[in-house]
Amino acid sequence: MNEEVKNIHILGGGPAGMASAYFAKENNIPFGLYESSNQIGGNCKTITDGDFKYDTGAHRLHDKDEEITKLIRSILKNDLLKVEAPSQIFLKGKLIDFPLNIKSIFKQLNWNDLQKIISENMLNKFSNIKDPKTFLDMANQQYGKTLSNLFLINYTEKLWGENAGVLSTKVAGDRLKNLNLTSLLKSYFKGNRYNPKHLEGGFYYPKNGFGSIFESIETKLGKENINLNSNVTKIYHDHGLIKGIMINDSKKIKIKDKVLSTLPLNYLLKILNPKPPKEIQKLADGFQFRSLRICILYLNIRNFSKNASIYFPDKLFPFTRIYEPKNRSYKMAPHDKTCIVIEVPCHKNDSVFNDSNKVFFENIKSLLIKNNLLNKQDIINESSIKVPFAYPILKIGIEDEVKKALNYLETFRNLYILGRNAKFEYVHIHNLFRNAKKFINQLNG
Ligand SMILES: Cc1cc2nc3c(=O)[nH]c(=O)nc-3n(C[C@H](O)[C@H](O)[C@H](O)COP(=O)(O)OP(=O)(O)OC[C@H]3O[C@@H](n4cnc5c(N)ncnc54)[C@H](O)[C@@H]3O)c2cc1C
Repeated sequence: MNEEVKNIHILGGGPAGMASAYFAKENNIPFGLYESSNQIGGNCKTITDGDFKYDTGAHRLHDKDEEITKLIRSILKNDLLKVEAPSQIFLKGKLIDFPLNIKSIFKQLNWNDLQKIISENMLNKFSNIKDPKTFLDMANQQYGKTLSNLFLINYTEKLWGENAGVLSTKVAGDRLKNLNLTSLLKSYFKGNRYNPKHLEGGFYYPKNGFGSIFESIETKLGKENINLNSNVTKIYHDHGLIKGIMINDSKKIKIKDKVLSTLPLNYLLKILNPKPPKEIQKLADGFQFRSLRICILYLNIRNFSKNASIYFPDKLFPFTRIYEPKNRSYKMAPHDKTCIVIEVPCHKNDSVFNDSNKVFFENIKSLLIKNNLLNKQDIINESSIKVPFAYPILKIGIEDEVKKALNYLETFRNLYILGRNAKFEYVHIHNLFRNAKKFINQLNG
């Protein structure tokens, strides 16, 4: 058994692992990081293909934590752009502004729907339902049935692959916070003087793609402590202490100090050796993740649209969102060309995840062409990426199960858990940096 003297062994080189490594280095804490793939960045990578760049999903930096935004700006040596590109929703052949606004709703919806929206929202004002438990209840309560059916329910069910009536309110993230008909009316009448805090609207974006945040951290850290192609396949423990990890089923590393896992929660529970008690093993099967298959179309046109993202709530489309990297940073495509990134949520055993590239591309292209969103002759090339652990599926009741699993893991005195899939929570990059900073400060102090 090899013996490594590290104060902290970080499992996983996604944003949570890289942010932790960054703060460890800042605090002179020796660390070793183990990443299964051949590249750091996890779900936040930027892929370069010839003159084009795109991210593994439409990522942006929400300016929700001033100190973290400032830190990321300094990591990127000021290569952080403020992006004000709008977003829209494609519904029934029309593009509607998102976040919704009164003008766009009145312009694009028919009178029948508008009457229902107004009466349902008036009724909601007087109803006493508090504390909705499911996403379905929350959406209906906040927007009324008609508006939420049109814009939220189908979209959410497509994204998570579950009925909105079994999904936790947490799947909304902060997206719907402060967005309801009253706030829409306020922003209509008050204009720029009214600025509710939600996750849509302006955001920051690194000039060379979202993944450049983590590439810059890698450059700063140096390669010697970052072990790529190092799949953690077993974690050994004894008397409440992690004693070793197995890499690629072949190399055992003895551990004398601390371990930080950012690996998906279900996977971590499965590789513990000895295995956890039966009831904990059973919990692991309940922690499921939604996957994504991403289609990239390279286009011989200057721009596909003006939008940062276009959302597709209609179940007719297998995809939920199209984003155009060039509308986030001019560095992402040549001046006279562009590419679009189309996100198709699915499960790993769905045909869409397993279809040949040819079938996958044809399905998407034909839908875009049929709906007059794209001309066939503009497509130069296409490619596809698979993201197996895209979203932890947050069903109602899952929080208690997660708590039980995390409580069990807390019994290991030198094991720490951090990260979106590791803690099975719907958090963003600024939260991960904040949590990593807090964690390393605790170790230090
Ligand atoms: C489509 C999409 C859009 C998003 N948009 C935004 C956004 O706009 N803004 C935002 O802030 N966040 C966004 N997010 C969320 C963001 O991507 C995640 O919060 C972030 O990637 C989580 O980082 P993590 O390190 O916890 O996990 P991951 O990114 O999943 O990283 C985990 C790492 O562990 C590695 N690993 C797994 N198993 C092993 C093993 N056995 N051994 C060694 N290594 C292993 C993986 O290869 C990976 O590198 C988005 C996510 C998706 C899917």
